[in-house]
Amino acid sequence: MLGGMQDWPLRIMRILDHAAREHGTRELVSLYADGTVTRTDWAGIQRDSRKLAAALERLGVRPGDRVATLAMNHSRHVVAWYGTIGMGGIIHTINPRLFDDQLAYIANHAEDRILFYDRAFAPLVERLKPRWTTIEKFICFDPAPGEPGFENLIDEEAGDYQWREGDEREPAMLCYTSGTTGDPKGVLYEHRSTVLQAMTLTSGDLFELTARAVVLPVVPMFHAAAWGLPFATAIAGGKMVFSADYNPSVMCDLMRAEKVSHTAGVPTVWLALIAHVEATDGDLASLRVVHIGGAAAPRSMIEWFRDRGIRVGHAWGMTEMSPLGTCGAPLGNWDELDDGAQLDYLCRQGRVPFGVELRTVDDAGAVLPRDGKASGRLQARGPWVLRQYFQDERGPVIDAEGWFDTGDVAILHADGVMQITDRSKDVIKSGGEWISSIELENAAVGCPGVAEAAAVAVAHPKWDERPLLLVVRKPGAQIGAEEILAHLADHVAKWWLPDEIVFVDSLPHTATGKLLKTALREQYRDYRLRTAA
Ligand code: ADP
Repeated sequence: MLGGMQDWPLRIMRILDHAAREHGTRELVSLYADGTVTRTDWAGIQRDSRKLAAALERLGVRPGDRVATLAMNHSRHVVAWYGTIGMGGIIHTINPRLFDDQLAYIANHAEDRILFYDRAFAPLVERLKPRWTTIEKFICFDPAPGEPGFENLIDEEAGDYQWREGDEREPAMLCYTSGTTGDPKGVLYEHRSTVLQAMTLTSGDLFELTARAVVLPVVPMFHAAAWGLPFATAIAGGKMVFSADYNPSVMCDLMRAEKVSHTAGVPTVWLALIAHVEATDGDLASLRVVHIGGAAAPRSMIEWFRDRGIRVGHAWGMTEMSPLGTCGAPLGNWDELDDGAQLDYLCRQGRVPFGVELRTVDDAGAVLPRDGKASGRLQARGPWVLRQYFQDERGPVIDAEGWFDTGDVAILHADGVMQITDRSKDVIKSGGEWISSIELENAAVGCPGVAEAAAVAVAHPKWDERPLLLVVRKPGAQIGAEEILAHLADHVAKWWLPDEIVFVDSLPHTATGKLLKTALREQYRDYRLRTAA
């Protein structure tokens, strides 16, 4: 027996139709790499997306075909998403910061047919053209004056295209993992999974997105669908601000000029932004909500935002989870917690929203208690969690009960709060016990004079592995190993203290701005610790 309600498939285009109908004049502002600023609104995005959908059909794109982008954040990129999805295509966001081999592999594996790209990436496109075997047409979002590009393509259309209808489980978007842990793998998002997550993101407990919000996704649109923000902000009817330029001074000016209230991004970007604000005695006047995700944020960073009256929290997730898993929203007892306890709470990764289930298991697969102590492999399930990678021979990568192993190591607390202690590959195994590389790094970054730190496991004859800490000093700072060790001794167990500290000029990062631990492990694999002698 069916119930008495209407059949209303959870299709992504309903999000855009809602935004255009109910919040049509709410703006989307884009700052392009050459400094140009454009303004459109949700009605304009809908109109241009209809034109693009028609243009893609004219170019011979069929439902289910992949249309790729190689671009930073801007409203044309948003149109590319909605226009492609609207005609039944699958929008594939490629991360331009990947290595050539990965870029070649990803586009060929996805069998992309069209590529939209930013002019800034033209040299990359020219270099890879001979290696891309399936892309038939290359269209520039922002061509040089007088050259044809995206606007010419859509200008030829009337804008009366009717979205292709279909099942809510149809695919809409393809994102590849950045390959931190092996070959990039494709994750195929569905209409339903995307809509459900976007609706969830608008809840107060999560991103607090409302029609009054002015949202600047610092996270690039090629990083796990910009964490769903171009969908969720459309549902809320908020204003969006995009910057293709990550220079902290440009970003700060833009945030002030457009009165940005909400942002989200990885810790490395915030490091630069905070340094700029401090150096210029500036402020982030209108900013109210900051979400930090993609990697663990140091306590000092969380404190910095909190002390300025900004709601700050972790968002934890991964490409395989569309990407949202948890968010650091306060619980009912918030007002009873003292200052330090509130900060401790914010430094953890947060709670799940309805739609995500988490558990931790030990190496034998036994479920661990939520006692705030037991640390184990973190598993997740839910309607926006991966079942199987795109075109992957292994088939489903979940167990019989639907649990997906995230590759993270975590502690679950009795109040449901999740705390990432490490990635399973980054954990330092000393004498059979685990040292969290993340906690060591974050404690080190809290030490004045330390700009960035990475803790890696180095082989040790007695302990199996011991931590080596690599440190980048802040410009002009003189800090030495002894001072850092003294600082760490106040923050971590004695047996966690790194056996050695090595000062370096810079640390390698992944294409999404995280510490590239694989490269560091490789580089320091044969490092001989003095304690190993
Ligand atoms: P990739 O796996 O290619 O690096 P993802 O962005 O999907 O790209 O990475 C997801 C991983 O990033 C998670 O499994 C986790 O290890 C880490 N991560 C994401 N958010 C957080 C967070 N708030 N705190 C700590 N680690 C995080």
